[in-house]
This record gives sequence, C-alpha cells and structure tokens, in this order.
Amino acid sequence: MPLISPWRADFPALDALQRQGQTYLDSAATAQKPQALIDALAHYYANGAANVHRAQHLPGAMATQAFEDTRHKAGEWLNTGSSGQIVFTHGATSAFNLLAYGLEHLFRAGDEVVISALEHHANLLPWQQLAKRRELKLVVLPLTAEGVIDLDAAASLITSRTRLLAVSQLSNVLGTWQPIAQLVALARVQGALTVVDGAQGVVHGRHDVQALGCDFYVFSSHKLYGPDGVGVLFGRHQALAQLQHWQFGGEMVLQTDYHQASFRPAPLGFEAGTPPVAGVIGLGATLDYLNDVNQAAAAEHEAGLHELLRAGLMLREGVQLLGEPQVALASFVVEGVHNADLAHLLTEQGIAVRAGHHCAIPLISTLGLSGAVRVSLGMYNDAEDLERFFNALDQALEVLR
Ligand code: PMP
Repeated sequence: MPLISPWRADFPALDALQRQGQTYLDSAATAQKPQALIDALAHYYANGAANVHRAQHLPGAMATQAFEDTRHKAGEWLNTGSSGQIVFTHGATSAFNLLAYGLEHLFRAGDEVVISALEHHANLLPWQQLAKRRELKLVVLPLTAEGVIDLDAAASLITSRTRLLAVSQLSNVLGTWQPIAQLVALARVQGALTVVDGAQGVVHGRHDVQALGCDFYVFSSHKLYGPDGVGVLFGRHQALAQLQHWQFGGEMVLQTDYHQASFRPAPLGFEAGTPPVAGVIGLGATLDYLNDVNQAAAAEHEAGLHELLRAGLMLREGVQLLGEPQVALASFVVEGVHNADLAHLLTEQGIAVRAGHHCAIPLISTLGLSGAVRVSLGMYNDAEDLERFFNALDQALEVLR
C-alpha cells in the first residue's frame, strides 16, 4: 500500500502548508483541523453567538444545546457510560491545575503522590507544587530501557501512603504506550485516586475510561483535531464529588449574598465564567467527523507511517532513537550533532518538526540529553511527507558532519 491518507483532503491546511513549502510533522504539538470543524465555527459565529446556560432567548438556547451535545459526545468518545461526567476546561493544563487545587484538601503532610519519570510538565508541575504546599512526598516511577513505566518498581513504590497516582497514557517524547490499567489497579488497591494524562493517547485509537478504571482522564481538544482553548476532564462521580471548587465567578454559583455562597456540583460548578462556547461546539463537530472515520483504517495507516519513520531513522548512521517508540511519533538525537543545529537546517528546508526538551525537562535530563528532535504524525500525513523529511535530514546531516 502506498500510504496515501484518504483523509488528507478533509484538512484544508495540509494543502495550504504545502503551498507554503511546509511539511507538517508536528501533530503531537497541535493537530491541523478538518473542514467540518471550520464549517461549524463559521456557522456558529455567522448565525448568532450566545452565552450558554443563562439566556432564555433562542440563540442562547441553541448555543446551550450544541454545547451540551458536545458534553454527551465527549462522554461517548471515552465510553464513560453512566460512570461519571465531562467537565470542560481551557485545556489539559488547566484540568491538571483544577485537580491539584480541587483535591488539595484531601492531603496531609507525609502523604505520597506518585507520577512517572516521563511526565509532561503539565502533569508534573501541578503535583510538584501541591507537594510543596502540603509537605507531600512526590514519588517518581522509573522507566524501562524501552521507555515504559517499570511495573515491578511501581508495585513496590505504590503503597498505602499513596494518595494519588498521575501518569501519562502515551508519552509525548518516547511514543510509548504505558500500562495504565495495571498501574491504576495497583493504586486502587491502596485506595488512591488515579489521574490519566490522555493528551497524546486520546488521539490514537479509542479508549474506554471504564476499562482503564481511572478516576480522572484528561485531554486537550486541539491535539484531537479540534479547536484550541478547550480541555476535557472526565471524572467518575465519586471522584468528582471530592473536588473542592477552585475558580469562582459566574455560572458556578447556586446562591450568594455579599458574605456567603453555595456552589453547583460538577460539571457546571467547575466551569466558572463564560466557557469557550465556540470551541466546545467545534469539538462536537470534530468528534462527529472522527466518528465517521473508519478507526481501524486510520490506525492501520498511522501504524504504516510510524513503521516507515522508525525504520528510516534506524537505518541512518549515528541516529539514536529515544526509547522504543510504538506509535504516532519518534524522538531522536544524532551522534556529534546538536539537535538545535539539526532543527535549524530542517526548518530551513520547510520541515516542521519539534526540537528541544518537549516540556519534559526532567526526562530529557535523565536521558543525559539537552534536547531531541521529534517527528510526529497525524491521520492526514502521507509517506511523501516522510520522504521529504528524510531527504531534508540527509541533506542536513551532510552539512553538519
Ligand atoms: N500532556 C501531554 C502528554 C502533552 O503532550 C501535552 C501537550 N504537549 C500536555 C499534557 C498539555 O496540553 P496543553 O498544552 O494542551 O494543556
């Protein structure tokens, strides 16, 4: 199979980028958008914007309906069933901060929060700072050489002192799936809460939060081909009930006088102020589009591209992969070549990849590196994109060595 994406034409930016001489291989940072989303945003803005949950007029009722429809669609995307609720935030990062502040009251000095060595700053710093505020111990699960959280080590580090486990489902640096169901099971036995960072995982394949067994699951719309400014936080009912309100303002309040207030439960109690109405409606349109895509075919296409990427990198002398990437992306360094110099030469040739620490400075430092180049794939990429990348890489390496 020639590895031509049947979905490329659904994403108008791919053509536009090509006209600009750009090959987009940075979808793990943010994804390009389908026409269906662009149409939904244009339709909403062209036909009458309105605030949600407050106005009784027709535009307000229509916006609220579309907004709540997306909540339903996001729940279906994660197969929440009746197990919990979807809360909209402004992104994955704001969802983690909501959790770290909202759960703070549950922690006592000496309690332990367990994360892993590969966490993105978004799933590290909120917990690190919580640990400082409450005098908690932050326990870091080590990785195997392949770049997977070490389950044996986890079994001894997750203990009765563990109050919360927060781990990534798919590493944004290593491209490795993590053993989430097993980790969650270890934490649950100890009565700990569990948070899954699905920012990368949600983009590749369909995941079932009931099967994962986690209390919370977080992702950002913009990486799942949706609009930016929108985050999704799934929480099981019992877990959400433990959250204290953390941002205060309009819509989240039930009743207030000048001195006292009572607040709504989830979800609205955690959506203070005007939410990203257009973004949430746009995410709904994106999920409709993705629901019409044959997921098995998309997974097969992505797997084919990933194999090309991995094999092509491994073929080149001096190229060293970080871990053993399984899907979606691969990060690498080249012996004797600084990643910033390489990135510069790739950029000059119109190859849009990411170089640097990938918002995971502790992981990159642990690997003894100052940075790495990351190539990441979307459903719209073709084998030709990778051909252009490899040609540019060969040119760059010839100049640099
Ligand atoms: N976690 C992971 C694994 C990520 O890759 C990212 C985005 N790079 C985030 C969290 C944070 O997402 P956002 O910047 O959209 O809040």
